[in-house]
Amino acid sequence: MARYTGPVCKLCRREGMKLYLKAEKCITKCTIERRPSPPGQQGTGRRRRPTEYALQWREKQKVRRIYGVLEAQFRRHFAEAERRAGSTGESLLQILETRLDNVVYRMGLGGSRAQARQLVRHGHFMVNGRKTNIPSALVKPGDKVAVREGSREIEVIRIAAEGTGQRQIPAWLSFDPATLSARINTLPSRNEIDAQISEQLVVEFYAR
Ligand code: SF4
Repeated sequence: MARYTGPVCKLCRREGMKLYLKAEKCITKCTIERRPSPPGQQGTGRRRRPTEYALQWREKQKVRRIYGVLEAQFRRHFAEAERRAGSTGESLLQILETRLDNVVYRMGLGGSRAQARQLVRHGHFMVNGRKTNIPSALVKPGDKVAVREGSREIEVIRIAAEGTGQRQIPAWLSFDPATLSARINTLPSRNEIDAQISEQLVVEFYAR
């Protein structure tokens, strides 16, 4: 499965904000706090004002990077958002939030979405009692996501489980730390999605 393997702090510097792609390090030793300039940009030369297209493209890149989704997959999520009733921008964010890897991250298992994705890929999770190792699988209200029984004692899960409690669990999930499982209560509403995103710019980008 394709994924971005380059330096991730560079992505934060490019977007000019912390995207929290590196778990612990993002809290304790963040690169962008020491080097806030965009990669490859030396000095403080005069910069041109970005065009409307550049702003839309930049926002789309930022959202992709926050959720760790490559372009083709992101387009598929956008196409699905367009098919849903209501605001396309909000639907897109709901789709990204209800990806299995993101739900695992929201449960506090995995310090970053990349770590959560790896746990899913390695087959440590079940959705409604069935083993699921597809990070992009979408869950829906009523579904239950749980660590597989046989995985609960292995080291990588025990370490991930130590992260639970450090992150606030959103209200659209009911998390049970005893069983390392969560029930999806509803789809997240826009104000429950904490990422600093202008989803309308993404919609405008694909509408061109
Ligand atoms: Fe981004 Fe984390 Fe690197 Fe900071 S440490 S620049 S938040 S990936």
